[in-house]
Amino acid sequence: MARDISKIRNIGIIAHIDAGKTTVTERMLYYTKSTHRMGEVDKGTTVTDFDPEEQQRGITIYSASVALDWKDVHVNLIDTPGHVDFTAEVERSLRVLDGGVVVFSAREGVEAQSETVWRQADKYAVPRIAFINKMDREGADFHGTIEQIRKRLNANPLVIQIPIGLGPPHVTNPFRGIIDLVEMKMLTFTGESQGAEVVVSDLPDEFRDEAELYREQLLGELFNYSNELAELVLSEAELPVELVRRVLRQATVQRLIVPVLCGSALDYIGIQPLLDAVMYYLPSPADIPPVEGVDPKDPDRKVIRKPDDDEPFSGLVFKVLAERTGDLYFVRVYSGTLKANSRVLNPGKDKKENAAQLYQVQADRRKQVTSVGAGDIIGLIGPRVSVTGDTLCDGAEPVLLGSIQFPETVISMAIEPETSLERKKLADTLEMLKRNDPTFRAIESEDTGQTIISGMGELHLEVIKHKLLRDFNLNVKVHKPRVSYKETIQNTASATGKCQRQVNGVNLFAECRVRVTPEANDLPARVFTNWVMEDSQQGQCIQTMMTSLKEHAEGGGLIGCPLWNCAIELLPIEFPEPLPSEVALRIAAADAFNEVLQQAGVTLLEPIMKVEVTTPADHLGDVINDLQQRRAIITNQQLRGHNTVLDAEAPLSAMFGYSMAVRSVSQGRASFSMEPLRYGPAPADVQASYM
Ligand code: GDP
Repeated sequence: MARDISKIRNIGIIAHIDAGKTTVTERMLYYTKSTHRMGEVDKGTTVTDFDPEEQQRGITIYSASVALDWKDVHVNLIDTPGHVDFTAEVERSLRVLDGGVVVFSAREGVEAQSETVWRQADKYAVPRIAFINKMDREGADFHGTIEQIRKRLNANPLVIQIPIGLGPPHVTNPFRGIIDLVEMKMLTFTGESQGAEVVVSDLPDEFRDEAELYREQLLGELFNYSNELAELVLSEAELPVELVRRVLRQATVQRLIVPVLCGSALDYIGIQPLLDAVMYYLPSPADIPPVEGVDPKDPDRKVIRKPDDDEPFSGLVFKVLAERTGDLYFVRVYSGTLKANSRVLNPGKDKKENAAQLYQVQADRRKQVTSVGAGDIIGLIGPRVSVTGDTLCDGAEPVLLGSIQFPETVISMAIEPETSLERKKLADTLEMLKRNDPTFRAIESEDTGQTIISGMGELHLEVIKHKLLRDFNLNVKVHKPRVSYKETIQNTASATGKCQRQVNGVNLFAECRVRVTPEANDLPARVFTNWVMEDSQQGQCIQTMMTSLKEHAEGGGLIGCPLWNCAIELLPIEFPEPLPSEVALRIAAADAFNEVLQQAGVTLLEPIMKVEVTTPADHLGDVINDLQQRRAIITNQQLRGHNTVLDAEAPLSAMFGYSMAVRSVSQGRASFSMEPLRYGPAPADVQASYM
């Protein structure tokens, strides 16, 4: 059943780990009656963190989407992870959501990872509202946090609520409610019903002056965005609440302001007004520009699809959850209507897929539906070949939407089954994990019986390892993680490879000419040719050499690592008569590949990580010392409150075990984030030890 698109909100809750995202989500689910019990993070009973690995770590690693209804809007809550080892997961969520609620802790303010995620949200042009949580904590600082949002995030925060009191119950003026500056009302939340009841009252006199002051500031800002509002303010006429909300909404959707709310999720304060703000101020799918894609047959032709149920269907797979009953594909529908028991096209793979069953995924159950309209999010069962980032569309009107880019893996680990019985189970489990997590790879080596799994960082592999050993009870031997090195060429070179052999009295002869050129694109070697032959058998010979060159580039160059940052061009030469056999062509291509690398010279490349460390001043010296010993280059150093934030670039090989080390040099007070940045030349000693 398609719903009114203006009533849909696809939103994500974005937060630094520990700011209270899970608690906020739990409260939202409870107040919208999506769940009957109130989950508590500290007891490991939350709904969104249904993965045991997450419950254990208390961090949300894998995004899930949960549907809830608040007043007359339908909210799809897309969970975003807070840990930077999982940036790709954050980006994948940002791609499909229309608005964000950014949760800050009033005590910690804007933290390193909030900044990273904020920048990503800027990149995807996501309108946001801010919720300053933990107002009940000792040391909570409402205004300080707002200043940080302004300065560190370069945003325009606009206060639409102010707190009543601040800090924990034992202080003289503890945090106990909020003042809504739009309606000029006081809101309190009854403790007995876990805050389920919001008590709206007139402003007590003691808060009136402060509230008036903030309301003036609010209107002063909105003045800039609406003539209608400005005129009413100037003539000192009554301002309709709807008008204030409308102007607030427009300015938020256009990303001119970030409305600021506050509360304490733990104490059940401020959640319903936050849901109201989602409804009033965040965009519906109809408020954002129509999605753009290309014609899969002609990538130069742009195709635009409006968020309208009557357009041809298009959608993006943004998550695949592997389940015993069949994989559940989370799809964001951009245009048209998708019906159950229909066929759709995966234009990227040119394959038809079944759209068998459609589910609206709610907190503790799934509701089967027969169709879903534009702008909505749905769980789909039926597809077989699609993966995260793929487009699904109407086969008669194909469109290919921009895919989701995931970085290359930088670290790998060998694992092997203890018994041959386990081999199949391991292979199946890894296959499933790969579909689940596009930043994770696994390749089985037939020679050694080992499987190499690779990912984005140490923590990423650690999570996978725990899943295999604990959740799936697999009996596997796990080796130490290793850096994934690459190899590149030093110079431009060309060479001709030959095959000239006699096998069983048959002459094998072929030649293959190639040229390599360095490219600075941080990508796998690009194999191409401008050599075209009309004759289909000759065309086949060219294809054979191209395939062989590609396989060699992926398999490894002179050092044995995948070839990177270069172009390999197959050059035209005369074919002999009769045409060479496939074996001869492959041998010639392999020879040419080796020869050209010898001439060009090769260098080992290592992954360089972007590292950000936040440390109190007393430990700054030790943190810097330690980083320098790890070959890190410090690129920026900035004072933030009592902390210093260091930006650095460091080779991954020197950053193993960093989470332990940084804790020990700072007595547990420094925090850090790390993600792959690029590949760079490894110094001579690393190169020598590798070869
Ligand atoms: P997440 O990592 O962002 O999902 O944060 P959680 O919701 O897991 O919360 C982290 C910790 O902060 C937990 O121990 C929560 O109980 C606690 N917490 C969450 N919200 C509040 C709040 O408003 N006040 C206080 N005092 N603690 C909170």
